[in-house]
Amino acid sequence: MSIIAENLQAVEATIGAACATAGRARNEVDLLAVSKTFPAEAVVEAMTAGQRAFGENYLQEALDKMQEVARLQPDTAVAWHFIGPIQSNKTRPIAANFQWVHTVERLKIAQRLSEQRPEELGPLDVCIQVNISGEASKSGANADELPELARQVAALPMLRLRGLMAIPEATQDEAQQRAAFARLRALFDKLQASGLALDTLSMGMSGDLKAAVAEGATIVRIGSAIFGARHYE
Ligand SMILES: *Cc1c(COP(=O)(O)O)cnc(C)c1O
Repeated sequence: MSIIAENLQAVEATIGAACATAGRARNEVDLLAVSKTFPAEAVVEAMTAGQRAFGENYLQEALDKMQEVARLQPDTAVAWHFIGPIQSNKTRPIAANFQWVHTVERLKIAQRLSEQRPEELGPLDVCIQVNISGEASKSGANADELPELARQVAALPMLRLRGLMAIPEATQDEAQQRAAFARLRALFDKLQASGLALDTLSMGMSGDLKAAVAEGATIVRIGSAIFGARHYE
């Protein structure tokens, strides 16, 4: 078995145990394998082990990798999720090449994604990224502007607002991890109570997966625990 297949098995075991502890069904949590900085061959190894959803942060790297993966595995469909910061001049290729975008944080970007989404692909699944760490983070919509933004994004014709995403401040302390995820969960519950039909909480990475599952994550975004340590150029 490849290292990636072994790592996937270990991550799967961790998710399973976290679900059991939280009294949740295993199928309530989807695993997004974050393949940024890793080559197409690593994605193919994960596909061979059964993984079908992949997250990428950098547009050009992702587009190159998609082509290469399609060449190596032409008969296997995978879902690509964009999870990086979005520049407004990059929305068109994002709208055309990804099934999901987790990092919508302002209306202008959402409007462009909706306008530029090719009709034949159907609505793009999106999450709004929320800043739940206050001053410590520059990314994400603020909690106070979230209700209005969510209402506006949900009304866009070629987007389907699925839920919320956050990247909390990194900490090893599980109680602090859980507190941050609980804040996102509370915002999600409020939006649902206001009438929006949401089903996705995208939260939890390699270092805080258990806490995220305990607080209700429905997508965990796992990179290094599957593919190994990243080396940036
Ligand atoms: C890189 C990244 C991940 C994966 O992080 P790991 O710690 O390697 O699991 C998850 N989400 C986002 C938004 C990322 O940029």
